[in-house]
Amino acid sequence: RTDSLTGLLNRRGFLEKGEEEIERSRRSRKPFCVVMADADHFKRINDLHGHAAGDVALQLLGDLLRGSLRAQDLVARWGGEEFVLLLPETDLHGATQVAESIRRSVALLPLVVGQFEIPVTLSFGLAEHRPERGLEVTIAHADAALYRAKAEGRDRVVAHPSVPVFTPK
Ligand code: GH3
Ligand code: MG
Ligand code: MG
Repeated sequence: RTDSLTGLLNRRGFLEKGEEEIERSRRSRKPFCVVMADADHFKRINDLHGHAAGDVALQLLGDLLRGSLRAQDLVARWGGEEFVLLLPETDLHGATQVAESIRRSVALLPLVVGQFEIPVTLSFGLAEHRPERGLEVTIAHADAALYRAKAEGRDRVVAHPSVPVFTPK
């Protein structure tokens, strides 16, 4: 359940804790958001500085994400150079502010890896969970928004447009 490189949750650990969060959110009727964050042009960082430096950069990004969030927020390595967050009791507006603040601090500070200062940026895709849907749908929406953030030029935050919920009369 733990990712060995970063010490964060791995995908499986995230999905398990995510199901617990769904239950909590159903009871409390409070929203939560899923945020996907992918390092921009990370292949270049490996090509320029080597895979070992890339590994350290991923560890530093993991530390930075964990350090930027509340204790109840989930942070996981989704795979490769991609991270996923779950922000309890947070709507799309709040999650956008959180992601934007992390985006800015990553973009402003180069990662110090040995003798190198490596500039890194992150692209973010966000989606608010809907109680009538499964977590995998919210993750897919966050992923679609991340895809747009990449297509629109990277180093940015894109929120998935929330689909209106159908309520029978
Ligand atoms: P984009 O902005 O489109 O995301 O470009 P990218 O280069 O980050 O994306 P791409 O998917 O083409 O490549 C991902 C890179 O991330 C290539 C791969 O070597 C690197 N990577 C993935 N996992 C690790 C890892 O555990 N350690 C290191 N050092 N690099 C990794
Ligand atoms: Mg990438
Ligand atoms: Mg990726």
